[in-house]
Amino acid sequence: MNAHPQFAQSTQANMMALVYHGPGEPAFETHAKPEITAPTDAIVKIVKTTICGTDLHILKGDVATCAPGRILGHEGVGVIEAVGAAVTTFKSGDRVLISCITSCGKCPACRRQLYSHCENGGWILGNQIDGTQAEFVRIPYAETSLYPVVEGVDEEALVMLSDILPTGFECGVLNGKVQPGGTVAIVGSGPVGLAALLTAQFYTPAEIIMIDLDGKRLEIATRFGATAVVNSADGHAVDAVMALTQGRGVDTAIEAVGIPATFEICENIVAPGGVVANIGVHGHPVSLSLERLWDRNIAITTRLVDTVSTPMLLNSLKAKRIDPKLLITHHFKLADILKAYDTFGHAAETGALKVIIEA
Ligand code: ZN
Ligand code: ZN
Repeated sequence: MNAHPQFAQSTQANMMALVYHGPGEPAFETHAKPEITAPTDAIVKIVKTTICGTDLHILKGDVATCAPGRILGHEGVGVIEAVGAAVTTFKSGDRVLISCITSCGKCPACRRQLYSHCENGGWILGNQIDGTQAEFVRIPYAETSLYPVVEGVDEEALVMLSDILPTGFECGVLNGKVQPGGTVAIVGSGPVGLAALLTAQFYTPAEIIMIDLDGKRLEIATRFGATAVVNSADGHAVDAVMALTQGRGVDTAIEAVGIPATFEICENIVAPGGVVANIGVHGHPVSLSLERLWDRNIAITTRLVDTVSTPMLLNSLKAKRIDPKLLITHHFKLADILKAYDTFGHAAETGALKVIIEA
C-alpha cells in the first residue's frame, strides 16, 4: 500500500483530481492521467488553479451538461508536458495560461471571434471534458486555447485571467459600453463583480456604484475603486442609486449575481439611453418591465465570455495597469482542495473571494 497516493502518479500514470460525482458529491481521488488524443492537444501539468462560482453551480446540480465522473475546474496556469503532432507554437516545458474557453480557431463562430460558441469547444473544460482541478489536464486545440506566460508576470495574478477578468470585462464593461465620464452600477460585489469594477476603470467612468448585501464585500469594493457603495439588504437599493445619480439612473447597470432580484434592480436603475449588461448565470426566469422600458432607448446584453480580451489583459497585467491579485484571499494545496471548496462555498463567513490552489 502506498501511504501517499497523491505521490504515486508518476509511475502508475495516475494522478489526483477533484471529481464531481453528482449533486453535493465532490471527491478528491485518484484518476487516470490524461493523454494526447488528438494532434491538436496539449497535456499541461497544473501549477496553480482556482475554484469558480460556476463550480459551485455544478455541485448543486444546476449544470446539466456536466456529468458525474467529471474533473472540475476551468482556470489555471501550468507547464506543458506534451503536445500533439499538430501543435507547433508550444513545446514541452513552456509555461502557459489556460483559457476557460476552448476554441478551435477555424469554425464559423471562431472566425467571428465568438469563441464561447466554438462548434468544437466553447466552455467545455471542467464541464464536458475533464478540467484543471487536477495534477494534469488535456487541453484540446492547444494553440488557440492556451497563452504563453509573459516573463515576469505574477502567476497567481495570471490565474485571474483564465476566466473572471475577461468575464467581468467583456460581459460587463465592454457590453455595458462603459465610457469616460459615464456612470456605472455593478450589482454584486463577488469576484466577477469586482473584476468588472477593476476593468471598468480602464475607461475612467465618473462614478462606479457597487451594490451588495455583504458589508465586507462593499468595503473591499471601496478599496478597489468604487466611488459609492449601496447595501441592498434593506430592499431600497434602487432608491439609493437614484439618489446618488440625481434621479437619472446609471448609463451602465452590470448584473453580476444571476438571480431575478438583482436583474430587476438593474432594470430599475438604468438611465434612458443606457445598457443593462448581464454577467450572472441565471437559473430562473426574470420579469422584464417592458411597459416601463419600451421608450427608454436602453439595451440589454447577455454574453458568455469569449476571452477575446485575454491578449489585451495580459498586456495590461504585464504593464501593471491592473492588479488582479487583489482578488486572492486564500491559498491551499491541491491535497486540501475539499477544504478550499468549503472555504469558497462559505464566502459570507470566510470572506473568500478567489482561492489559489497549488498543485
Ligand atoms: Zn468560471
Ligand atoms: Zn471554433
